[in-house]
Amino acid sequence: MSRFFFTHRFLILRRISQITLLVLLIGANRWGWKIITGNLTFSELFEKIPLTDPFALLQVFAAGASVKQTVAVGALIVALFYVFLGGRSFCSWICPVNLVTDAAGGIRRGLKMDFEDEDGFIRLSRNVRYWMIGISLILSMLLGVAAFEFISPVSMMHRGLIFGIGFGWMAVGMIFLFDLLAVRNGWCGHLCPLGGFYSLIGRNRLIQVRHTADLCSRCDRCIAVCPEKEILSEVGKQSGTISHGECVLCGRCVEVCEENALRFGIRKILKRRKT
Ligand code: SF4
Ligand code: SF4
Repeated sequence: MSRFFFTHRFLILRRISQITLLVLLIGANRWGWKIITGNLTFSELFEKIPLTDPFALLQVFAAGASVKQTVAVGALIVALFYVFLGGRSFCSWICPVNLVTDAAGGIRRGLKMDFEDEDGFIRLSRNVRYWMIGISLILSMLLGVAAFEFISPVSMMHRGLIFGIGFGWMAVGMIFLFDLLAVRNGWCGHLCPLGGFYSLIGRNRLIQVRHTADLCSRCDRCIAVCPEKEILSEVGKQSGTISHGECVLCGRCVEVCEENALRFGIRKILKRRKT
């Protein structure tokens, strides 16, 4: 049993993080808890510290709307955290959609359904998410509303869970089926502009996965579980950090590596050790 906890330690911590946030927000809405209030787009910690989704704020600006100073400060706090520390960790430690996409990915692996890798069942460029950022901003400008926020499954699911489900389940079901039947890691790894946004701003984060090629047995377990497996292309070939912005810092590669060839590290400290 303790081995199970060790080999799933980051997964367990991520689920605790995602579910705790949901419970606190539901508690704030239903029972007036004051730890964190609001939703994933805008919330307040202890009714004092504003936390704003910086991509939502960009869309609001593109739509030509003005925002309160608190909202802008909240976006700055969140952006600074992900730029310098967390990278794209929002996707695997906070976002509730990750619960759904991880479930679909697990079933795909269990049923060995990754047929598109060999036969091109559906090929979708991972760069579509970056195009989606531009499309969201242009649509916001044209329509005068935060376009992606309006249809975002992330917001729909989150608002649905907190304020009552509504269309939230439909969005959840569609993403689950898309990831299960159409494209491996289809939503988060190909389409979601929010994930793309955090990939772009998180490229120089401090927390990174470090690979030691000498320890690697080339078993490819890490590649099998990584939701962005292209970023592990150098595994077994050369040592270094997985510095790609697409890494969601989920830690699954670290958990499954029996040779300790992968581990989390802090970029600055690692550089100092080299000199
Ligand atoms: S799981 Fe570890 S040993 Fe296996 S290929 Fe990945 S880094 Fe190498
Ligand atoms: S490289 Fe590791 S931590 Fe990064 S996304 Fe892949 S499995 Fe997760």
